[in-house]
Amino acid sequence: MTKKIYEHKDGQDWFIGSMSGHNTLAYLGDENRIDDPLFELNSFLSRLTLIDPFSEDEWNKPRGYCVTVVRWSSEFKLISFVLKMINESLDRRLEARQHNGAILIIEDDRLLAAQLPQNGLPLSDFFDKSQSDFGDKLLIATHNEGKVKEFRKMFASLGIEVESLNDYPDLPEVEETGMTFEENARLKAETISKLTGRMVLADDSGLKVDALGGLPGVWSARFSAPDPTDEKNNAKLLHELAMVFEQKDRSAQFHSTLVVAAPDKESLIVDADWPGYIAFELKGEDGFGYDPLFLVGETGRTAAQLSPEEKNAISHRGLAMKKLMEEFPTWQNKH
Ligand code: IMP
Repeated sequence: MTKKIYEHKDGQDWFIGSMSGHNTLAYLGDENRIDDPLFELNSFLSRLTLIDPFSEDEWNKPRGYCVTVVRWSSEFKLISFVLKMINESLDRRLEARQHNGAILIIEDDRLLAAQLPQNGLPLSDFFDKSQSDFGDKLLIATHNEGKVKEFRKMFASLGIEVESLNDYPDLPEVEETGMTFEENARLKAETISKLTGRMVLADDSGLKVDALGGLPGVWSARFSAPDPTDEKNNAKLLHELAMVFEQKDRSAQFHSTLVVAAPDKESLIVDADWPGYIAFELKGEDGFGYDPLFLVGETGRTAAQLSPEEKNAISHRGLAMKKLMEEFPTWQNKH
């Protein structure tokens, strides 16, 4: 029987593994190094593959994981990678969750093990929900349940629970008074983090049209103020570009900036652009905002003609989220 090879690779972490024999976690080309956190992590994880030696059925199963670590930044990602291998091969349901600085291993609602930072954790931090509780929950600074759903799905893979402003009805509305996307996203994330003492993610996005010197930019939602709607914004954009006749001169980018803020911590900031052109007429039924006018590269299709999955895979927001997922674990481990 050929062994299944598992792989996880992103900007910060790269693991390759199979279930084949002894439990090992080793650096590429340096299998015997034991003076390292990997060695300690391996002893911790080894305990989870213990199986009943008297059950005949167990003898046919692959008994241990074997993982080569090319690079790593996140203990949580490495643990989750190994758990996935164990689950698939040994028919287990192990999952990792972050809780107040510890990583908990849970199976069917039973706590099996806890991995702690090297010098342990103050008991008050671990048990007291009012203190330093921003390790395992993320408040998304939006009322938009669609956005919350997307973020919830992504952060589940990091063991992070997601809540939204709908869970905090008494918080004041934060005005977007910044002149840049970063200023606005920072303003929202850092103000709400100060008010609640929690880890908060905020986003700001918009459309930058080159022929209009980057407008509507941070004013995208309010372009047709005083009573802006998507229809009026699109009509105004077509009007502003009425004298720009060549498609190549109607270039534009959707932009997204994401900021994560936590008390007493430098905020994490990522951003991304999605280049395209402004069409001469509205096309497509999906999406929102300027989607019916945004031509995706040279495809001739507008963003409103893409399915949500197609759009997410290439959009400014999708790309920014991908970057966030890569950088978040390292940022979270920083003090
Ligand atoms: P916000 O960042 O959710 O406040 O979005 C600002 C505005 O930018 C929206 O109201 C839309 O007009 C525009 N916008 C941002 N992202 C998109 C998109 O993916 N499609 C269409 N319009 C967008």
